[in-house]
Amino acid sequence: MRLSSHVQKTFEKLLGTYAIQQALDFIKNDHSNMISEQKEIAVIPGAPHTEPEIRSPFFLDRLKKYGLDDCSIDEVGNVFGYVHGTTKNPLVLMEGHLDTVFPLETPLAITEKDGRIYCPGIGDDTAALAALLCVIRAVRHVGLKPCGTLMIGGTVGEEGPGLSRGVRHLMSTRKKNIDAYVAVETCWTYRVTRGAVACKRFELTFKGAGGHAWNDFGSPSPVNAAGRAMSAIADITPPSAPKTIYNIGLMSGGTSVNSIPGEAVLHIDIRSVDMEARDMLGTQILETAKAAVAAENTTHPKGERITLDVHTYGEKPGGDQPEDSLIVQIACGATSAVGVEPRLMGPASTNINFPLALGIPSVCIGAGGDAGNQHSLDEWFDPKGSYTGPQKALLMLFAMAGLEGVTPALFNTRKTY
Ligand SMILES: [Zn+2]
Repeated sequence: MRLSSHVQKTFEKLLGTYAIQQALDFIKNDHSNMISEQKEIAVIPGAPHTEPEIRSPFFLDRLKKYGLDDCSIDEVGNVFGYVHGTTKNPLVLMEGHLDTVFPLETPLAITEKDGRIYCPGIGDDTAALAALLCVIRAVRHVGLKPCGTLMIGGTVGEEGPGLSRGVRHLMSTRKKNIDAYVAVETCWTYRVTRGAVACKRFELTFKGAGGHAWNDFGSPSPVNAAGRAMSAIADITPPSAPKTIYNIGLMSGGTSVNSIPGEAVLHIDIRSVDMEARDMLGTQILETAKAAVAAENTTHPKGERITLDVHTYGEKPGGDQPEDSLIVQIACGATSAVGVEPRLMGPASTNINFPLALGIPSVCIGAGGDAGNQHSLDEWFDPKGSYTGPQKALLMLFAMAGLEGVTPALFNTRKTY
């Protein structure tokens, strides 16, 4: 990725500054502390919906302990603190998510083998939480002062069951103040994600009177209607650019082999980086399902008609940014600056879905280290060289918000979203 001369010069200035070098050295020397803290956090349950009682207060204490100002927990459990600069803006937000996918009763214990640390949630997203705390220690140790404001912390509800309630709340209350949004998600320093996949889910319920297989033959069947719908939906070819997909992931219906079913249910997932393309496919799928109901009712004219209930859920906005957009350049520039080749990843579903859809420059970056088996009980993390993650994050923060007396903020225009 080619950086504009403006971005390039910013990183040259930062890297040529003694205080920044001190901070980068601090992070490298702090590596064993960071890993100890990562293990400490990993055994604190992060089960969906428990964060406000368990991990949020813990993280708040750490933010305060390491010296962030004005630390607080908001109404849903997000925890943030600030590094104030000379001006309020730009306000640059960087977060990791506090929740894991694992239910409260999941045994959490650290085991180590062949250089790998095993524990559910050790990488996703505990690596990010530990990296952010390390960044804060470095900033305070050296006394780095941004031109704008840094807002650093943890969000709740990022994983599936949390329905993104943390970032949804942030966007509903703070979107006007935030000039740039960085989500630190799992591992791999090289990882830069600039796009967000918008999704939407339908639960289609086909309902009928049901009846006796022999006596009521000729009445319409919800399972027939669902089958007709599935067959017709399977013939839809959504656009490949922007990539748009559907998946019929669940089907159910009927009670016994000799009864006309009273109900059949389909769950359909629809995704695209383009919200308009997602919604057009959604409309097409609903029209197809309605046509299937009509066809079933026409073919079997006896008795009560089949009806269709549509329940829409799991809606997430999304969007994409050009490869050369400022925030993507900053993320890539910071990655290169710590000696790692940046890799632009394909669009994903992360917390940046929400700010990005509102037009806030957003990027999702890896926290460092190597990892595997995420969302499973044998999740592992390899801490070798993982300090490049927080080093990259620190450089990004001061490139975006500026370093007092050294380089102005790259995000220096106040926008109204
Ligand atoms: Zn995650």
